[in-house]
Amino acid sequence: MKLILVGPPGAGKGTQAKLIVDKYSIPQLSTGDMLREAVANGTDVGKKAKAVMDAGNLVSDDIVNAIVSERLDQADCKNGFILDGFPRTLEQAEALSGMLSDKDMRLDKVVELKVNDEALVERVSGRYTCGNCGEGYHDTFKQPAKEGICDRCGNSQFKRRPDDNADTLRTRLMAYYKETSPLLGYYFAKGDLKSVDGMGDIGDIFNSIDNILKSA
Ligand code: ADP
Ligand code: ADP
Ligand code: ZN
Repeated sequence: MKLILVGPPGAGKGTQAKLIVDKYSIPQLSTGDMLREAVANGTDVGKKAKAVMDAGNLVSDDIVNAIVSERLDQADCKNGFILDGFPRTLEQAEALSGMLSDKDMRLDKVVELKVNDEALVERVSGRYTCGNCGEGYHDTFKQPAKEGICDRCGNSQFKRRPDDNADTLRTRLMAYYKETSPLLGYYFAKGDLKSVDGMGDIGDIFNSIDNILKSA
């Protein structure tokens, strides 16, 4: 199963990707996570990306394309993967198409998560994750079963992203509508696009995605 999850910041891509990982045992390739790791490790890529990410703008296509191409060569991607947050521009989509044909891989589906703009603000401003395993949580919508303890790994240290504030979200939303939303037309025209209502319950949304994946 090789798929792309597309949607604005806070749509639930990461949340759904983790559920797909659990069911299908394929890796989640989140360019946002990879870039944040590069920033944390102080690599050359991280140094170039940090200010751009903090401001809510898109990191250059060259950097992101190279990261993804390298990641796709790792053995765990052979049987499938979930691209979460990539591609985000038409240029990235074209680069991906070239990479996949070079690597003899074929995309199965592109799934769009549709969420109201007001809900995105709410979701992003309450988002936090486990500092150990990366499980995602929300102040209102998804709290750990035991307060302060990660459901998945038992860790009790959580973190929030510096770019998850109302100001930066505005810039990120603008980038989504300007740069990323044209991909919906691009993949629709290719016949790969499926749209899912991302406004409901996390489990219900997963069932809708799973039905699409089963028929892929
Ligand atoms: P969200 O989950 O809110 O959609 P991400 O974690 O995917 O955000 O991305 C965080 C930031 O990382 C983006 O605002 C952007 O600066 C950078 N980034 C992630 N993926 C890409 C990409 N494919 N192209 C360019 N920049 C990216
Ligand atoms: P993305 O990866 O698209 O930026 P996330 O998966 O990180 O989005 O979700 C953003 C925030 O919204 C997280 O705090 C997450 O727990 C919460 N969330 C995800 N899906 C839903 C949903 N269907 N209803 C309510 N909150 C959700
Ligand atoms: Zn955890």
